[in-house]
Amino acid sequence: MSGSIGARASRKGPRPKHVPLRTCVVCRDKDAKRQFVRIVRTPDEGVQIDPTGKRNGRGAYLCDKYICWERAVVGTALDRALKADIDADVRNVLSQYADEHFRKDDNVRS
Ligand SMILES: [Zn+2]
Repeated sequence: MSGSIGARASRKGPRPKHVPLRTCVVCRDKDAKRQFVRIVRTPDEGVQIDPTGKRNGRGAYLCDKYICWERAVVGTALDRALKADIDADVRNVLSQYADEHFRKDDNVRS
């Protein structure tokens, strides 16, 4: 693990660092910098919010806009992205998560 930093930088030519782009399943926004939250369909526990992004399963991303969460809760974007039926319990969890982490007002700013 040690000693490799710097060795790669001396390669010729600038190489753009590979940044994985997330795509919000509702607004289709792509951004590497903004905070995207992963929703995962686990084999055992159904659809869950995965803040660490590390759980196994089919994943979909929602961006940090409240409106997208709101739409995901009432609409079918997540169902389609995860190829799953999002049930009412999960929708409640999503709705709560949005309330706790995002503010409606943030969308009006700027
Ligand atoms: Zn979005």
